[in-house]
Amino acid sequence: MQGRLRDRVAVVTGAGSGIGLATVRRFAAEGARVVCVDVDAETGGRAAEEVGGEFVAADVADETAVRELFDGVAQRYGRVDVAFNNAGISPPEDDSILSTGLDAWERVLRVNTTSVYLCCKYVLPHMRRQGSGSIINTASFVALMGAATSQIAYTASKGGVLALTRELGVQFAREGIRVNALCPGPIATPLLTELFAADPERAARRLVHVPMGRFGRPAEIAAAVAFLASDDSSFMTAAQFVVDGGITGAYVTPL
Ligand code: NAD
Repeated sequence: MQGRLRDRVAVVTGAGSGIGLATVRRFAAEGARVVCVDVDAETGGRAAEEVGGEFVAADVADETAVRELFDGVAQRYGRVDVAFNNAGISPPEDDSILSTGLDAWERVLRVNTTSVYLCCKYVLPHMRRQGSGSIINTASFVALMGAATSQIAYTASKGGVLALTRELGVQFAREGIRVNALCPGPIATPLLTELFAADPERAARRLVHVPMGRFGRPAEIAAAVAFLASDDSSFMTAAQFVVDGGITGAYVTPL
């Protein structure tokens, strides 16, 4: 299905890599004018260049930067139709609660959850003025399930994204604004692939829980984001949209 986002103005954070980059490509293929946002000017700039979009360098955990981002987009394009609030981190210092320090906890919460609060806070006035908009916030399947291989701050941060998204979806439902959370399963982004290539046992321990027997591809998540961004999902809001190869539905997986 092509052209579902024709002439829509779409902002993608974390646009330089993984799920964000795949979504930039998919949004552009569906006809959107894409604003690529990243702290990494090199990868973010390349993404924008590839699709003929605009690059904006911003740290999504910085209130002034986020406010200027959405006000600037609204000023330059006249509207903001889609906000894909996707940037996030998963640093190695975030591990078991027994060893994770307050610094790591606060940094992860700030980049993964506070950023979503800020992006929603500063895009919503523009969408309310238009009387339309679709916000998609990236949570994770770990917001729905527990893991003995803990990343305690990351898990808590994604639980926060899920709850915040649900509430905004309900609050703004009658103003033509839809707010949904995306819950990807493990996706073979460069980071994950590298980590598991170095440690096959680590990959095997996780793969056994995936009914499909493989990690997802960024493009498979981008397809779900394009659906949530488009009018094809017009009766969906305040939802947790799970794209996980069956993990959250599984007890025993196929051999
Ligand atoms: P990635 O590391 O490949 O890409 C993240 C991008 O965000 C990078 O380009 C990075 O520069 C940017 N970024 C980081 N901090 C930023 C900040 N403060 N401001 C602006 N940009 C920033 O990651 P990914 O795997 O594509 O993950 C994207 C999102 O999906 C994250 O929120 C992640 O938690 C979530 N997610 C990933 C997986 C997975 O298995 N990869 C699974 C579930 C959820």
